[in-house]
Amino acid sequence: MTILINVITFCFKCYFYLLLITIVLSAPSYISDALKPFLRKRRLAKHVKTLAPDENYILRYVSGKEPNAHALEEGSGIKIIEVTQGLLDKMTDDEIVAVLAHEIAHHQLKHLEKYKQSFWMQLFDGIDNNKAAKWLKEKLENPLALQIVLNCLKLPLTPLLMHLSRKHETEADSRAVEILALDEKLFKPEAILSVEQKLKVLSLPAYRTFLDRLLASHPHPSERIKTIEKGIREAIARTKSTFYLRLKSILAPHPHKSISLA
Ligand SMILES: [Zn+2]
Repeated sequence: MTILINVITFCFKCYFYLLLITIVLSAPSYISDALKPFLRKRRLAKHVKTLAPDENYILRYVSGKEPNAHALEEGSGIKIIEVTQGLLDKMTDDEIVAVLAHEIAHHQLKHLEKYKQSFWMQLFDGIDNNKAAKWLKEKLENPLALQIVLNCLKLPLTPLLMHLSRKHETEADSRAVEILALDEKLFKPEAILSVEQKLKVLSLPAYRTFLDRLLASHPHPSERIKTIEKGIREAIARTKSTFYLRLKSILAPHPHKSISLA
């Protein structure tokens, strides 16, 4: 009986030590897996600083399956770049850097202010807040009926606002390439284009009809790719030209000093 108890105890001890060894050996991979998202976010924040060294941005991560990012402002001009979990899941670091450059471009070009202060947006907001709306609010007691009337008045303004939004998006795409081209390590043309290709696959169904395109906040994916390709070509040409200029200045024959033998 004692022998049996000893054997069982020995087996338990062996099992316990084996378990302990397994946990200790696999711990580094558990720790590194847990740290990976944190380190990735830290790396992305560092890249934002490289892209815009003189500006302060808060990189904020939000839930959402769709790969998306937004430029926002809070309080007295705190610049925020919001990135969805879907973007982290579906894009590589190089691709996310291209998206971040696009959002930085929106901030640098002051698109948020320009959009809010645009004539069409003022008119859009004005529909809710003018005397006629107040008069309507008194006459139409049903809030749903009031909303329908106000939305009908706003409807013709929507394509104009979306036209402005698409213009801003094109500007941000061009500026993003310029921002990325300033840093040799972060300028990865293939990553910038692959973001657009991925977004094209996802967003193409939203551009089926003429009305879809009229009410879209972003230009058609094919147009965006053309804008970005043009920007990349120009950036490469600029880099080349400064490179050749530098090369030329180094290789330029220096005028020989005339030696006087007198
Ligand atoms: Zn944008």
